[in-house]
Amino acid sequence: MRAINRAAVLRALKDLGSVSRAGIARHSGMSQVTVGSIVADLLDRELLVEGDEAPSNGGRPSRLLLLNAAAYAAVGLKLTEDHVVGAITDLEANVTLEATRPLTGRTPEAVADLIAETVTGLLKESGTDRHRLLGVGVGMAGVVDGTEGVCRHSPFLRWRDVPIGALVGDRVQVPVLVENDVNTLALAERWFGAGRGERDFLLVTVGRGVGLGIVADGSLYRGAGGAGEFGHTVVDGSTRVCTCGRTGCLETIVGEAGLIAAAREVGNGRRPRRPRDLGDLYLAVEDDPDLRNVVEDAGRALGRGIANLVNLFAPRLVIVSGEVLHVSSVLVESATAAIDDHVFPGLEGSFEVVAEPLPESAWARGAASLVLSEIFETPTRTQLDLLSALGAGGGA
Ligand SMILES: [Zn+2]
Repeated sequence: MRAINRAAVLRALKDLGSVSRAGIARHSGMSQVTVGSIVADLLDRELLVEGDEAPSNGGRPSRLLLLNAAAYAAVGLKLTEDHVVGAITDLEANVTLEATRPLTGRTPEAVADLIAETVTGLLKESGTDRHRLLGVGVGMAGVVDGTEGVCRHSPFLRWRDVPIGALVGDRVQVPVLVENDVNTLALAERWFGAGRGERDFLLVTVGRGVGLGIVADGSLYRGAGGAGEFGHTVVDGSTRVCTCGRTGCLETIVGEAGLIAAAREVGNGRRPRRPRDLGDLYLAVEDDPDLRNVVEDAGRALGRGIANLVNLFAPRLVIVSGEVLHVSSVLVESATAAIDDHVFPGLEGSFEVVAEPLPESAWARGAASLVLSEIFETPTRTQLDLLSALGAGGGA
């Protein structure tokens, strides 16, 4: 019960910024006595600090309370097929230090070793005491069972049912949370980004794959596990074989490989235009009408897909992000036009679409947010573990 009350106090501070004890009581519905006792405990643990005097309404003067973001740290890691990107953050998901390391092997044990080494390196180089580490978050593409910490299927690493959370946990000795990488980004947006304060929003990422994070009624929507495989929804107009082994997937048109393949197929007979990567395409697309058509087609396919999502979920906000966005503003423009063309008339004007750049470090920050979001969420078993780890380690 005390852990639940602690979470409610932290949540009030997250929602309100600086606030008095009375303000927390009003926001959380707890009695002032309970709030006073929980706040004393959190001050002892250095999770809170006292700031200026709160405006008085005649009673005893009290000080405003603030979250002490620097008191504890989280490490997030994004796992790709050939490297791992790590970041250490404070409690507000501000990145203190980043690190990138190449994968030395793809067996679960080799990857767990590399993750543990990266965590140790980040703690050491940032001068963070290990007792200050709340937990480690791991984000990866594919189907991930976050509750069990098991990677059910990773297309890039060719894993099936790998208990990566337990393997890393044995090595780092703090709670380890594992989640689909797009879901970790959605959590980062929910608590620390554009989705802050939004109860219903979608995050669409377009890079090597096409991903979707769904925040519904304030929480990440996972379905029975693995929800959000937007890239593998079936669309007209593609005969290319997808990474999933099937044909007709949206990803084969909009994903990096599909886009490059389509760009390499066009030519005007006079000069071969065969872009090798997104950088080449970026340079060529502005003054090459054929390539511009390819990008516009991809944008339209993406926009039709997003319109379908809007019709299904009625979000307030759609965040579009990912490496492919950097190819050209043409992609986002044609996607936006297609969204407008295909959204159900009753939903027009009820949502906003924003395009956001996505540096690779954002994925690692997202994985750290997986740990941080647990502090402010309705308590789960993981949160109780995290909070008891806090009691054992830092603070008083
Ligand atoms: Zn597919």
